[in-house]
Amino acid sequence: MSRRDLSRHRIITAQDVEDAARAGVVELLLQPGAMLTPEAAEAVARHGLRLCGREGGDGWEALLNSAEAQPFKEEICAVGRKLWQRMYVDGNGGNISYRLRDDAVLCTPTLCSKADLTPADLCLVDLDGKQLAGGRARTSEILLHLEIYKAVPEARAVVHCHPPHATAYAITGRVPPTCIIPEYEVFIGKVALSPYETPGTKKFAETVLPFVKTHNTVLLANHGIVCWADTVTHAEWYAEVVDTYCWTLMLAQQLGAPLSHIPADKAGDLLAIKQKLGLPDARLEGDSCPVCDMPERPGAITTIPSSGVASGRSSAVTDELIAAVTEAVLRELEKKRRG
Ligand SMILES: [Zn+2]
Repeated sequence: MSRRDLSRHRIITAQDVEDAARAGVVELLLQPGAMLTPEAAEAVARHGLRLCGREGGDGWEALLNSAEAQPFKEEICAVGRKLWQRMYVDGNGGNISYRLRDDAVLCTPTLCSKADLTPADLCLVDLDGKQLAGGRARTSEILLHLEIYKAVPEARAVVHCHPPHATAYAITGRVPPTCIIPEYEVFIGKVALSPYETPGTKKFAETVLPFVKTHNTVLLANHGIVCWADTVTHAEWYAEVVDTYCWTLMLAQQLGAPLSHIPADKAGDLLAIKQKLGLPDARLEGDSCPVCDMPERPGAITTIPSSGVASGRSSAVTDELIAAVTEAVLRELEKKRRG
């Protein structure tokens, strides 16, 4: 097996990789902390080259560019495109990560539209947020993801985005009611709402800590949502489920009729399915839900935003009142005219 020693280079360029590939090299030896340019990383993947660290080196760049990481990097990029196509991220907003190893997390870079992500753009960080490898700077929101990984051992992937309907709830300080649509009950159930903090800070990252063990989806006040799952694809599914649910509730409210709920005994069936799937739910931990008597966290807000239609009912009452008052005034005027 032929190997090329590039351990004198701090930065590995596409030219270095192409030269090695032309010479029939299959493995590149890198110094610890060596950086590959995005084009070099792309060339490594294209030629199927292996990267390895020098004896005693950390080999993080090698791990980032390894065959082991490649499928997860591709999955992150595919999910990034889905988020952008569904309008869940805007500008450079949103971020995605995957826990590749206990001590190494793949994540998206800062200042990059999720529509344009390529595997070569991704970074590798440790559990404290220190960048281990990657040519671009990591997302500033990685601390939020890392708090979730540290608190929830089952979490392998985290997606943060700004889907408009779920974010509408988050900016009104409300969470959607439960026991209305089965799919939402099984995959998400009751979402939590974490208090506002400045994005990118450790304090912001810690706002989700009281909720993430019993919720796979949290609304972030005045900001957006965060979802965790076993895979990046599944975390994105949860973003779709919660946003569609919030959207459907808003549409239903415009019909003006009260929402009908899934009966308590049937809601229990859904919780049982959820438990079988190993999905978290605060109601499985013993709190109760006011609608179906399922446990729910005390103080939870289970209202939906009031809209023009809800006040439509009260405007009918107002119309009646105005008509009655007008009639009384006209009667008095008539009396005066006659008298
Ligand atoms: Zn955000």
